[in-house]
Amino acid sequence: MRLDVVSLAPEAFMPLLALGVIGRAFSAGIAELHTHNPRDFATDRYRKVDDEPYGGGAGMVLKPEPVFAAFESIPLQLQRRVLLMSPQGKPLEQADLRRWATGYGQLVFLCGHYEGFDERIRSLADEEISIGDFVLTGGELPAAVIINGVVRLLPGTVGTAASLEEESHSTLLLEHPHYTRPADFRGMEVPAVLRSGDHGAIARWRNQQQQERTAQRRPDLFSRWEEQQPNRIPLS
Ligand code: SAM
Repeated sequence: MRLDVVSLAPEAFMPLLALGVIGRAFSAGIAELHTHNPRDFATDRYRKVDDEPYGGGAGMVLKPEPVFAAFESIPLQLQRRVLLMSPQGKPLEQADLRRWATGYGQLVFLCGHYEGFDERIRSLADEEISIGDFVLTGGELPAAVIINGVVRLLPGTVGTAASLEEESHSTLLLEHPHYTRPADFRGMEVPAVLRSGDHGAIARWRNQQQQERTAQRRPDLFSRWEEQQPNRIPLS
C-alpha cells in the first residue's frame, strides 16, 4: 500500500519506519511512505504557509495554495482515499481501518496545523477523520495512528490472521483476558479452566469473559452486541 502524507512536520513520521512490526512492514515493502511538505511548494521568498484569518480572530490559518500544490504533486492511484485529519471529523473506528486496508491501494493524509486550515482544503478530501474528542497541535499524530492501524492489517505484517480476528473491536465484544506462565505469580493465579486442557470449557469461559468485560467497560458496545443476539441467554 502506498501512503502519502501532506504535512509541515514530515519528520514526525520517521519513528513509524523503525517501529517493530510496522517498521518491518515498511522494510519488507508491504507499505511505502511518501511525505510532501507544503513549505516546499510555497512560492513567496519567506516560504509562508500560514496567514491571518479573514474576519479576525485568534491564531493563524494554513493557506490553501501550498497545500493544494503539495497534494497535486502526488501521483494518485485509481483506488485511493484522501483523509483529512480534523477534530471535527468522523470518530475513527476499527471498521474504518479495515475498510481502508482492504479497499484501497493508496491513502493520502492531509495534516492541519495552527488554528486549522483554510476551509477550501476540505474539498480535497474524501473523508474527514478525528481520533477523539480532544485537540492536538497538528494532524501528524492522528495520521500516524491511522497508518499504524492500517499497516498492521495488511497481509504479511502481523504473523497470523487469527490474532487480528480475535481481538477487541474486530467484533462488538472486547477481547477476553490473557495469561501466560507462571501459573501463580505473587498469589495471583491463572484461572484453573485455562489449565484444564478442556477446549470446550476454555471457549465458553472466554466467551463469558468477553461479555462480562464489554458489559462492564463498554455498555454502549454491549447493547449493540445484544441487539444482534436474539437467542442469547442473559449474563447471570
Ligand atoms: N481550531 C481547530 C478546531 O477547533 O477544529 C483545531 C485545530 S488543531 C489545533 C490543528 C490540527 O491538528 C487540525 O487541523 C487537525 O489536522 C489536527 N488535529 C487536532 N486534533 C485532532 C483530532 N482529535 N483528530 C484529528 N486531527 C486532529
